[in-house]
Amino acid sequence: TQKNKKLIAGNWKMNGLQASLKEIELIAAKVGHYADKGTFLICPPATLLPGAKALAGDDLNIGAQDCHSEKNGAYTGDISAEMIAEIGGSFVIVGHSERREGHHESNEAVKAKAEAALGQGLKPIVCCGETLQQREKGEAIGFVTQQIADSTPDSLSKDGEIAIAYEPIWAIGTGKTASVDDVAEMHVALRKTLVDKYGERGNTVEILYGGSVKPENANALLHTQDVDGALVGGASLKADSFLGIVAAL
Ligand code: PEP
Repeated sequence: TQKNKKLIAGNWKMNGLQASLKEIELIAAKVGHYADKGTFLICPPATLLPGAKALAGDDLNIGAQDCHSEKNGAYTGDISAEMIAEIGGSFVIVGHSERREGHHESNEAVKAKAEAALGQGLKPIVCCGETLQQREKGEAIGFVTQQIADSTPDSLSKDGEIAIAYEPIWAIGTGKTASVDDVAEMHVALRKTLVDKYGERGNTVEILYGGSVKPENANALLHTQDVDGALVGGASLKADSFLGIVAAL
């Protein structure tokens, strides 16, 4: 299935001080030109969320990189879905491989975060992806489809309520990208997983690709079967490179 609009999302990770908000301003000024082709999102660190939202205007969405599964409470260092929603955030990335690795987040924990996001009207982007070792052993498809089956909410109450992102761990921040054939194979398998789980509504979930997406490779990746957008790390930090990816739509 081919979506009319693709989702181009930037994940700033632990990068960006107040001065970086100028990049948000530059991105916000331009993405409106592509509004018929895409939905655009930047996920800055939590400290920049209100500042980013103030500059984002109507054409750029702002989201967070993680949320806690509980509504509030004694969870030092965490932020809740409600806090993200209150500042006008509309998306949250959950289950990024850096959280799964560095913070030992299980599929079950990621699923609880995605459900918390839905409870506050945020759209979660649920991430999945295999290690190089798993790919070399031929285990990538089985592992990743199971990860998504176990990390996504039990049910969806409307079309396009969540997005997912396939990010092979070996392609994140390494300059290596998966081949378009490997991406297509995985995205088709993930589509089947979503339709098995949600029925027809599974076709309305965007499946993003992430892993060293940049202006030079965006066109090929964004026009690969069942690729409904991109989750961009490094290349989202500068307006020029993020807009270069947007221009490939
Ligand atoms: C990411 O980690 O979400 C990502 C895709 O990073 P990069 O684009 O830098 O590989």
